[in-house]
Amino acid sequence: MEKIYCQGCGALIQSTNPDEVGYTPKSTLDKDTVLCKRCFRLKHYNEIQDVAMTDDDFLTMVSQIRDTDGLVVHLIDIFDVNGSMIKSLPRIIGNKSVLLVGNKIDLLPKSTNKRKLTQWLQTAANEAGIKVEGIYLISSVKGYGLAELTEAIEKYRNKNDVYIVGTTNVGKSTFINRLIQQSNGVNDVITTSYFPGTTLGFIEIPLDRDTSIIDTPGIVNKQQIAHYISDNDLKLITPNKEIKPRVYQLNDQQTLYFGGLARLDFVKGERQSFVCYFSNDLSIHRTKLEKADQLLSEHKGGLLSPPDDKSIETLPRLTESTYRITDKQTDIVFPGLGWVTIPTGNVTVAAHSPKDVNVSIRRSFL
Ligand code: GDP
Repeated sequence: MEKIYCQGCGALIQSTNPDEVGYTPKSTLDKDTVLCKRCFRLKHYNEIQDVAMTDDDFLTMVSQIRDTDGLVVHLIDIFDVNGSMIKSLPRIIGNKSVLLVGNKIDLLPKSTNKRKLTQWLQTAANEAGIKVEGIYLISSVKGYGLAELTEAIEKYRNKNDVYIVGTTNVGKSTFINRLIQQSNGVNDVITTSYFPGTTLGFIEIPLDRDTSIIDTPGIVNKQQIAHYISDNDLKLITPNKEIKPRVYQLNDQQTLYFGGLARLDFVKGERQSFVCYFSNDLSIHRTKLEKADQLLSEHKGGLLSPPDDKSIETLPRLTESTYRITDKQTDIVFPGLGWVTIPTGNVTVAAHSPKDVNVSIRRSFL
């Protein structure tokens, strides 16, 4: 096939994978001006759609950011910080200013201590070697924190372009669509002009005469559980309202199953409470540790679901890591799913999660 490039973003046009950069249905290929689906939606509906890229393609593409004076806004999902923090960011963008934005704050219980949460994000960013100018907590859906963030963007961008980066599913489209709505007069600009960018796969949304917000494709991070489960299951495990903690009083040698997607064994310690923060729709089952393996093999996809039948085909097997937890108020985090807070501490637990979706431990921020 002859190589055709999108007149909007410059991406190579393809008609095979709707979720990847440059997709356009075959039927539109003989038009004079070809736009990829993403640019088409933006031009005609003022709506950003997310497309995905592998880490390597993304690296090559965004390394161009390094040579600009722009500000980078790194959006992460507060519910999946490990899965959504782009560890390669410093390598990609060099010494550039970064604003770290924790999205989906509306999902956390009202009692969340925002100061502790911000400190924890700062630590996570430090560990990843990402130098942040500021940390902002927002909800793109509810609009919380957006005014403050917009002000900060204005301040730090120094009249330069703003690059929005994030992994898939962090809410990047929701966020940018919100910015588009909120910027006066910009709607007209988008619908009447071609996007000036010829940067591969980047979409530019003018901020003023000289500068733009630039949407970069979402990175696929293999640590995100989202890539291993069906759309239905993803919907079920993604919380859509404030999480209600569920508390279990456990004796040692008991196990909790989170659907059939993850599991926590209380191996050793005094009887105590385990506080679970997961989507309110995800069922949690308590069982005896000695029966836990059998329960999963007999009831995966049934009593222990999700996974549904479709996810069972793609979900990696569960792998186990054992932790000796001495501190109070420690969280065991199942990325993309939720976490369990152990208020008392002094326990040995074994956490099971799908391979590559690595469990982590942190101090509770509640
Ligand atoms: P993208 O892949 O990064 O472009 O993510 P989307 O904008 O498509 O959002 C992914 C999912 O997260 C969707 O189900 C959104 O409704 C949801 N979402 C995005 N922002 C928020 C938010 O601030 N709060 C909540 N509760 N959900 C959000």
